[in-house]
Amino acid sequence: MSAVITESRQSYGLDDDHREILEQVDKFSKANFWELQERMDNDEWWPDDALPKLGQTGFLGATVPPELGGAGLDFAASGLVLQGVARWNPSLSLGILAHENLCLNNILHNANDEIKQRYLPGMCDGSIVGCLSLTEPGAGSDALGGMATTAKLDGDHYVLNGTKLYITNGPVADVSLVYAKTSPELGAKGITAFVVDTKTEGFNVAQKLVKMGMRGTQTAEIVFDNCRVPVENVVGEVDQGVKVVMSGLDLERIGLSYMILGMAERCLELAVDYAKDRKQFGKAIGEFQLVQGMLAEMYTEVEVLRSFCYDVGNEVSEIEHGSARSRVHKRSAALVLQAGLMIMRVADNAVQVHGGAGYIWEMEINRLYRAGKLLQIGAGTNEVRKIIIARELLGN
Ligand SMILES: Cc1cc2nc3c(=O)[nH]c(=O)nc-3n(C[C@H](O)[C@H](O)[C@H](O)COP(=O)(O)OP(=O)(O)OC[C@H]3O[C@@H](n4cnc5c(N)ncnc54)[C@H](O)[C@@H]3O)c2cc1C
Repeated sequence: MSAVITESRQSYGLDDDHREILEQVDKFSKANFWELQERMDNDEWWPDDALPKLGQTGFLGATVPPELGGAGLDFAASGLVLQGVARWNPSLSLGILAHENLCLNNILHNANDEIKQRYLPGMCDGSIVGCLSLTEPGAGSDALGGMATTAKLDGDHYVLNGTKLYITNGPVADVSLVYAKTSPELGAKGITAFVVDTKTEGFNVAQKLVKMGMRGTQTAEIVFDNCRVPVENVVGEVDQGVKVVMSGLDLERIGLSYMILGMAERCLELAVDYAKDRKQFGKAIGEFQLVQGMLAEMYTEVEVLRSFCYDVGNEVSEIEHGSARSRVHKRSAALVLQAGLMIMRVADNAVQVHGGAGYIWEMEINRLYRAGKLLQIGAGTNEVRKIIIARELLGN
């Protein structure tokens, strides 16, 4: 690990346990996941054994209580897992985010005991892969208001019909947390959350989507065609899905920011190493002040994000789930906005330091640059993040 990164990690708001977790995940990810990056990106390949491998370390489902198969750690710990994996394999960390932060966390916080016992132990050991099916062709930023997927009660089942788009892990998932309108006449107030086994008849992966970055992560369009889901699979209460979505979104934004931090650290590290190695005009390019300026700016951006990210992560770890929204809603939106803006500036500078080599598809810095753009779109776009912050500031 570059000295730049090691020093920073020691000087910030991590206690000994958190530092140890980050160091262990970082080491494990470098040894096991780094070498998979190239094939995942080139072939849009997902390594099926990656989640079980991480599960064996105990770091998957970090926040789940031990009696349900987890490590019983706090939210900050699960963020550090994402950070550590993201440095060595951004696509894999995105898959973990969808599995754990978007699906598992929502089940943990909102489902009844029977559902938790059915899914959580397998999700913690990596034998069950999860995804979250919220957005649709006509419902992206307006995911709740524009939702057209319906769930109609028929005896002891709900019958789901509709299309979900851009679903991370969709093609490889065993279970999905799905949102559908049970009372369409109530608009966003008539949405219910369900756990749906992806082998259920009528759950169809209509297509796997080809992306510009994060290409190892599998992304799907999912069509529900008279998909019959038992009433016991309702998560939370009927027509109360908005509560489930909203409580999860703040945590998703914070988790994504940890992931971005790991990617930004790697951009900086690659740029520093290249600036030391690459020689032009008889000197290492790192001796030129214009190159030094880029490195200094990148370092500063990474450190500002680290400080903000650990601060919000520690804050959310200290408050009970459910009360999280009011306290960290604005800060989590601000954090992920800053992280999304920062990663593209840092990745851009890092490609610039690499010159022509940075523009080549197979270079690690090129993959980071392509992956970075998603981080201004997923978990609410930059514009939606700004809307949330402004609404909170203005009190409306
Ligand atoms: C790779 C990838 C993975 C994803 N994974 C998942 C997943 O696992 N599960 C899931 O449910 N979803 C997932 N998503 C969906 C993601 O959450 C949406 O793409 C995102 O919320 C934006 O919606 P949209 O793409 O429909 O864009 P749109 O909402 O159509 O937005 C288009 C543009 O209009 C702007 N805009 C929209 N409304 C406003 C407004 N009121 N004011 C100002 N500007 C506005 C947006 O900011 C954007 O610039 C994923 C998306 C991608 C690309």
